[in-house]
Amino acid sequence: MAPPDERALPAPDGSTGLDPEDWDSFRSLAHRAVDDLVDHLAGRRDQPVWRPMPDEVRHSFDGPLPRAAAGADAAYREVLARVVPYSMGNDHPRFWGWYMGAGHPVGNLADLVASVINPNLGGADHSPVLVEQQVVRWCAEAAGYPTSASGLLVGGASEANMVGLAVARSARLGRSLREEGMPSGRRLTVYASTEVHSCHRKSCELLGLGAAALRHVAVHDDFTLDVGALAAAIAADREAGLEPLAVVASAGTVNTGAVDDLEAVADLCEREGLWFHVDGAIGGFLGLSGSAASVRGIERADSLALDLHKWMQAPIDVGLVLVRDEPAHRSTFSVIPTYLAHTDRGIAASEVWFSEYGLALSRGFRALRVWMGFLAYGADAFGGVIDRTTALARRLAETVDAHPEVQRMAPVGCDIVCLRYAPPATAAADLDAVNREVVLRVQEGGVAVVTDTVLRGSVAVRVAISNHRTRAADLDLFLEEFVRHGREVVAERGRG
Ligand SMILES: *Cc1c(COP(=O)(O)O)cnc(C)c1O
Repeated sequence: MAPPDERALPAPDGSTGLDPEDWDSFRSLAHRAVDDLVDHLAGRRDQPVWRPMPDEVRHSFDGPLPRAAAGADAAYREVLARVVPYSMGNDHPRFWGWYMGAGHPVGNLADLVASVINPNLGGADHSPVLVEQQVVRWCAEAAGYPTSASGLLVGGASEANMVGLAVARSARLGRSLREEGMPSGRRLTVYASTEVHSCHRKSCELLGLGAAALRHVAVHDDFTLDVGALAAAIAADREAGLEPLAVVASAGTVNTGAVDDLEAVADLCEREGLWFHVDGAIGGFLGLSGSAASVRGIERADSLALDLHKWMQAPIDVGLVLVRDEPAHRSTFSVIPTYLAHTDRGIAASEVWFSEYGLALSRGFRALRVWMGFLAYGADAFGGVIDRTTALARRLAETVDAHPEVQRMAPVGCDIVCLRYAPPATAAADLDAVNREVVLRVQEGGVAVVTDTVLRGSVAVRVAISNHRTRAADLDLFLEEFVRHGREVVAERGRG
């Protein structure tokens, strides 16, 4: 029997797939998009950082599923009208909210390439897998960690931290954990400072340890972990019949950038037989910078979580987990169903299947944005970004310290400055409300984005620089705006 004519196959719009009938018109749209985006980046400094969305824009996203084709040109017009102008703004030189990177143009280009060739990094024998393996080794070297470690790119440090703790848990509990789940009657505990990132709570919950298993240990005045208090907490828990599993040290806390004493924690973990995990989401790459000494001991970690989309400026999202003991890492996650059987030849013949090191099977080509970034800029350029933003943070801190109306709230850790508007005559009880309002006005004014947190019970405004585009004049402009809004808010409240 003859095969059916292709024209007889269902194709509602008469085409054979999703590719354009005419590649040339697609090409000209793509060229236009590249031009628009380069213009966007080149002119970004002169645009507002962030702007509140008008109601009609907000509601324009309420519409139903479009069943009919509008065409690529029309879809792209919608992006330009409704998406780009109201995006977060972390590509702007004066975005210092939470803790993020700005992205870099080489990474933007890498994303285009990665999306077009669209490989699946779950495994198999193709060069993108070698790119990711090389990125893992390069990042280990950059972080000062053994390059023999196994590693996996993930969506960010939340996932990377969870993988680290998952390996710690299965290294302790062994094969029976995978077959039978958490043993009853054993209560494993994890230790970290009160400043540790909230993702560790999520990990403890999802790993079946429970949020109560995460023991928050006191910090010193500089917000670093009190290792004496840590030892006491471990001893007390052992006494009470709990089973200490791991310590999470922070190489840069999210509130103030404090770097725990990694050597001291490593020593303690060694003595106590505990898994030593480092959350290096912020400071994990300090090894590339002039401040490398601040993370001495990072090389002793059993597992290390890193973020490439923060200080390292790769476009979001990409993080990395490194695990010293490769078999421990693989045996935590490896499941090989028959349809994924590895072979000696052909496309399934691959030394490494990343799907054996984490949750995901299908994995995108995140590695390319990191790989191209290292190649294009050189690793030292990222050390330079760390040094420059650290110096900018110190400079801002000095300006703040000399300013009669602004008060610094914490030592500068990494490139984070915590401050508040606090003119001498203002009642202390008002300062929290004043500063929350000032932060909102700075954001809504479009000049800069900063966010706030609470330090020892008081609202603190965080300037988390972490942005390779920032210049000293940007921070001067922010401080001017901040004080102007501060005066205005205090005056309004005075008028009641
Ligand atoms: C940002 C951050 C995380 C979470 O990382 P994501 O990439 O946002 O998932 C974890 N720990 C610290 C210290 C962080 O700053």
